[in-house]
Amino acid sequence: DQHRAPDYLSGLNPEQREAVETLDGPVLVLAGAGTGKTRVLTTRIAHILSTGRAYPSQILAVTFTNKAAREMKERIGVLVGAAVEGMPWMGTFHSIGVKLLRRHAELVGLKSSFTILDTDDVVRLIKQIIQAEGIDDKRWPAKQFAQMIDGWKNKGFGPADIPEGDARSFANGMGRELYAAYQARLMTLNACDFGDLLLHPIRMFRAHPDVLKEYHDKFRYILVDEYQDTNTAQYMWLRLLAQRPHSRKNPSPTPPHKGEGQTSSRATAGDHRGSVNTGSGDFAQEERQESPSPLWGGVGEGKPPQINICCVGDDDQSIYGWRGAEVDNILRFEKDFPGAKVIKLERNYRSTEHILGAAAHLIAHNEGRLGKTLFTDRTDPDDDKVQVHAAWDSEEEARAVGEEIEQLQRQQHSLNDMAILVRASFQMREFEDRFVTLGLNYRVIGGPRFYERLEIRDALAYFRLVCQPADDLAFERIVNTPKRGLGDTTVRSLHDYARGRNIPMLAAAADLIETDEMKAKPRKSLFDVVTMFKRWQGLLETTPHTELAETILEESGYTDMWKNDKSAEAPGRLENLKELIRSMEAFESMRGFLEHIALVMDAEQNEDLDAVSIMTLHSAKGLEFETVFLPGWEEGLFPHQRALDEGGRSGLEEERRLAYVGLTRAKRRCHIWFVANRRIHGLWQSTLPSRFLDELPVTHVDVAETDQSYGGYNRGGYGQSRFDKQEPFANAYSTPGWKRAQAHKTDATRDNWGSRSGVGIERIGYGESGPRARTIDGE
Ligand code: ATP
Ligand code: MG
Repeated sequence: DQHRAPDYLSGLNPEQREAVETLDGPVLVLAGAGTGKTRVLTTRIAHILSTGRAYPSQILAVTFTNKAAREMKERIGVLVGAAVEGMPWMGTFHSIGVKLLRRHAELVGLKSSFTILDTDDVVRLIKQIIQAEGIDDKRWPAKQFAQMIDGWKNKGFGPADIPEGDARSFANGMGRELYAAYQARLMTLNACDFGDLLLHPIRMFRAHPDVLKEYHDKFRYILVDEYQDTNTAQYMWLRLLAQRPHSRKNPSPTPPHKGEGQTSSRATAGDHRGSVNTGSGDFAQEERQESPSPLWGGVGEGKPPQINICCVGDDDQSIYGWRGAEVDNILRFEKDFPGAKVIKLERNYRSTEHILGAAAHLIAHNEGRLGKTLFTDRTDPDDDKVQVHAAWDSEEEARAVGEEIEQLQRQQHSLNDMAILVRASFQMREFEDRFVTLGLNYRVIGGPRFYERLEIRDALAYFRLVCQPADDLAFERIVNTPKRGLGDTTVRSLHDYARGRNIPMLAAAADLIETDEMKAKPRKSLFDVVTMFKRWQGLLETTPHTELAETILEESGYTDMWKNDKSAEAPGRLENLKELIRSMEAFESMRGFLEHIALVMDAEQNEDLDAVSIMTLHSAKGLEFETVFLPGWEEGLFPHQRALDEGGRSGLEEERRLAYVGLTRAKRRCHIWFVANRRIHGLWQSTLPSRFLDELPVTHVDVAETDQSYGGYNRGGYGQSRFDKQEPFANAYSTPGWKRAQAHKTDATRDNWGSRSGVGIERIGYGESGPRARTIDGE
């Protein structure tokens, strides 16, 4: 019935509706923040499902975080009035990559049980390789090379593809060899890094067109959120999946209803593929499982099996250039997908006029934008303008934000509706400390997380080695933790033995304890280690995984190690280990848990708790909150010093886009903070207010009067040229806050200030050569 649109369509504006209903052919939605791009994607999926155009498993949907995928599933469920549990192909590029790779690992030379290495493992592995080549790893740091490799992988380059100049730039021309050696080593370890999760599938699809064709036949709809932040490798991956080769021999495609209906014949096709398991035999099963639902009964009736791609994005929100994202992918879309329909959305449904006005004015300072209009109907005269506050130092900043939050809480605002978005993760701790003091619930999203703590990494190494005995990095991490008298010498001989025979180190240990090459004591210790792991591996299939995890930590002596440790952190570490085991309960197996760990970008925290969210601006993409706090708007922190050091326009513009992302997360209230003094790496640094403050329009911004003692500071702190602000700062020097800040400084830091500014503290923060925040940890 044409006249009665389904409920989920009725709330959309005409452009949104067009984006949802244009199901055939490529669609690109290019629109500003809060215009409903994500909502369009969600509704589009609901529409595809409820019109029976595809099974859930025939939809490939890429979200920016795993959390976003979960939320999208929920929302679709609400829209189509059914559980959408089975959207097996919705997730991040990485999680979909893992899934593809587990199915087809053999085709790229891995086993399907491969391990995913985290950055820390990667660096250690590279260090070994660099040392093995006799290269000085002080001069050519492993970490730097790890970043180079990551950059190459983002561009889709294997060792053979890297440009000559790049190859020459590391270790006197050894770049290519080292990269190749690294890849070879990953294969031996049956492991891959994050970049491989994309590159292996790309390689596999290219080498095996038959496998690619299966996915072409499978995925009817491809949807991508946050498209502006795809990198080249991701784009190659998308294009492979979304474009059928033109020169197909058989131009008359099988009507989809035939293929879908005869699920059993497809299962057979999968089965008789013989020794090489392409893994796709279970497509049929995926689809059979969902076919009972009347919702997707007549899938694809009579339609040609066309692959329909829909990407949504906003060039002004491209904030991962530093990680290889190519905003030009937006421009390439229309070229690569001829006939693409480009839809613009201009109405913002999220923010007040003030917030939107401030954000739009700020981003207009960037050149080279595609440019777009944004408007909102939310023009309530009671709405607050964007508030800019000054504080003396970051402690003061955290205190003031805490007060503001408590005040909102007293007015019945939920903590869930508030977020603190920081530029660099080191800024979080101060807020965390303050909130603990106040007893305010908070959750840290995507920050330096629980799973990255030392004791957690150790425990995970044990678990990994049990699940994956070839994981040499895990082996090396824990073979002498707790101390077992297995020092460097033993590890080196194990290493040599293992390399010589091309076997894992754990296997080498099992061999070596049978020989008399080893001294009695280390042999005994090693014997114990080997025996323990054999035992735990035996328990893997029979014992509940949380129980096994506890057993491992007990029997290995790892828990005891911390129990006997008299340091102040030890009790906390034991708590964390307990928490780790608790967190495993949500998973079905130890392997499933480890896979999750490798993928968690957004740390799991208690979702039910009413709590303030703390996260970096980078991880706030796509989210929205009633109230947003943006602390640390100071030169050197935001814009970040790294961007300033680059000197060019692009780094600074990316910082500005990040500021735009920050502002546009707010629905109702947005508070920006800057401080006069910030302690970085234990050193006090005085700072200048961010240039972005000067770029906000006076009409939409209030400079809040906070503490009386900083009154002068505030009056001058905004909207005037930088040097006009000198005077108010001078007043601030006589305030109690200044004296308090001075008291924190050691003589050493004061000397440091003096020498760096050249004129002493009178000019701090103001002279052209005045000291400023220089070295700030990145995200
Ligand atoms: P971002 O660029 O930040 O990712 P977005 O374009 O994806 O933003 P959404 O998150 O989809 O925007 O939508 C922003 C807000 O506006 C959401 O709360 C959404 O529910 C709401 N919204 C979107 N479209 C409509 C509409 N037609 N009617 C009412 N509310 C809408
Ligand atoms: Mg969005």
